[in-house]
Amino acid sequence: MLKGKTAVITGASRGIGREIALRFAAHGADIAAIYCGSRQAAEELCEQIRALGRKVLPYQCDVSDWENVKETVGKIQSDFDGIDILVNNAGITIDRLVPQMKEEDFERVLNVNLKGAFHMIRQTYMLFARKRAGRIINISSASGLVGSAGQANYSSAKAGLIGLTKSVARELAGRNVTCNAIAPGLIDTAMTREMNGQARERMENAIPMKRMGKPEDVANLAVFLASDLSGYITGEVIRVDGGLCM
Ligand code: NAP
Repeated sequence: MLKGKTAVITGASRGIGREIALRFAAHGADIAAIYCGSRQAAEELCEQIRALGRKVLPYQCDVSDWENVKETVGKIQSDFDGIDILVNNAGITIDRLVPQMKEEDFERVLNVNLKGAFHMIRQTYMLFARKRAGRIINISSASGLVGSAGQANYSSAKAGLIGLTKSVARELAGRNVTCNAIAPGLIDTAMTREMNGQARERMENAIPMKRMGKPEDVANLAVFLASDLSGYITGEVIRVDGGLCM
């Protein structure tokens, strides 16, 4: 479904981003895999993708740093023959109730989850616009749709990402570039493994399908949104949450 395309994926070293990179490669895409701190995991991912016969290169980049993003996207452009797909997946949580949430906890989460996506879009926007083709996929969250106690910073960032998605979708629709958001519910990755056992069980019980999602549940939708099959879908937010937010 993605033969001949090049995809840039942020947060590709672990979890959902890693699975998206693997699935995209299995569908024929070449991959620019952006990681931040997990160099070894990124290198292992690249080995796996090379074994699938696809071109892949790892790039260390903190997406919250504008200069770092500019430099990285420049390198990707010279290493690959154009960019067709951008997946803004990099994300962090610093969970606390509002009275305990320091200003720096709020800012750091906004800077990585929301501003990071803005930086990546800003730096690739004209490439897509000039090419009159492209796919932008932002990984938002159920928390951005319905809020989440202890996650005022994260929910704000993920809700902001939905506004960013719709604005970019409107700006680029006439250029045949789509921009959509995925809102995962509770997915089994390192991010959710930090939760204590009781909280996890409570959350699982609240999910109509009574189980956490897997990274591949999200990655399968990303493949569709990145492919030609989704060409008339833009500005959409699609939940992958086992019915949690319906
Ligand atoms: P994860 O396993 O913790 O992985 C997070 C990824 O983001 C890692 O690859 C990490 O790279 C990267 N990252 C963190 N800070 C970065 C930065 N400043 N610059 C570049 N990359 C950075 O998380 P996940 O569960 O796969 O989550 C992936 C996305 O899905 C996130 O946006 C998250 O908010 C969203 N999401 C997750 C869930 C869930 O239940 N898991 C639910 C809804 C939405 P390094 O390890 O290399 O530093």
